[in-house]
Amino acid sequence: MNFVFLGPPGSGKGTQAMKVAQELNLTHLSTGDVLREAVKNQTEVGLTAKAYMDKGDLVPDEVLIGMIKDKVTGGELSDGFILDGFPRTIPQATSLKEMLKEAEANLDKAILLDVDDEEIVRRLSGRWFCPECSEGYNYPVKMPEKAGFCDKDGAELKRRPDDEESVVRNRLEVYEKLTEPIIGFYAKESILTSVKGVGSPDSVFNAILEAVK
Ligand code: AMP
Repeated sequence: MNFVFLGPPGSGKGTQAMKVAQELNLTHLSTGDVLREAVKNQTEVGLTAKAYMDKGDLVPDEVLIGMIKDKVTGGELSDGFILDGFPRTIPQATSLKEMLKEAEANLDKAILLDVDDEEIVRRLSGRWFCPECSEGYNYPVKMPEKAGFCDKDGAELKRRPDDEESVVRNRLEVYEKLTEPIIGFYAKESILTSVKGVGSPDSVFNAILEAVK
């Protein structure tokens, strides 16, 4: 089974995509995670991507399309996948369709996590993570026992630089302008399913599992 997860920044798609992939034994690929790792390791892609990511802009299509193409042709996704954060533009969506066709595969569903803007800004401004183990926290929903420090390893929690308010606003604008059109793209392909991304993480998880059945 092959899925893409769509939704605005902070919709919870990363967390849910990881859990659903585990449950269904699928490969989870987050392009945001791959890019952050590339930035950390100062690779060529990372050096290109950093300036865009810091501003909350999208990294150019050719970089992302090349990255996904390598994974598709390298067979990394051939046992079933959830793409989290790709596609984010119409050219990315059409390229994905072509790549999968060439690999004699197809998308089963595009799952849209639906959360409104106010809730998004509230969530992102409370988002923290552990730089050591990547555990995520969300004030006031999921607070660490000791404020500012990870429950698992005691490391000092950090914020993603692109979670600063001005950058969040730009990320939302970019989402509306460039990414929302792909909702219509998948609706036309008759594979779009929308799931309400509000409520407890477990209830959203169960709603997604129902939707992908
Ligand atoms: P995310 O972790 O999915 O919120 O992605 C973090 C940042 O990585 C985004 O704000 C973009 O700058 C970049 N990024 C991730 N996926 C893509 C993509 N498919 N196309 C362009 N830029 C991307």
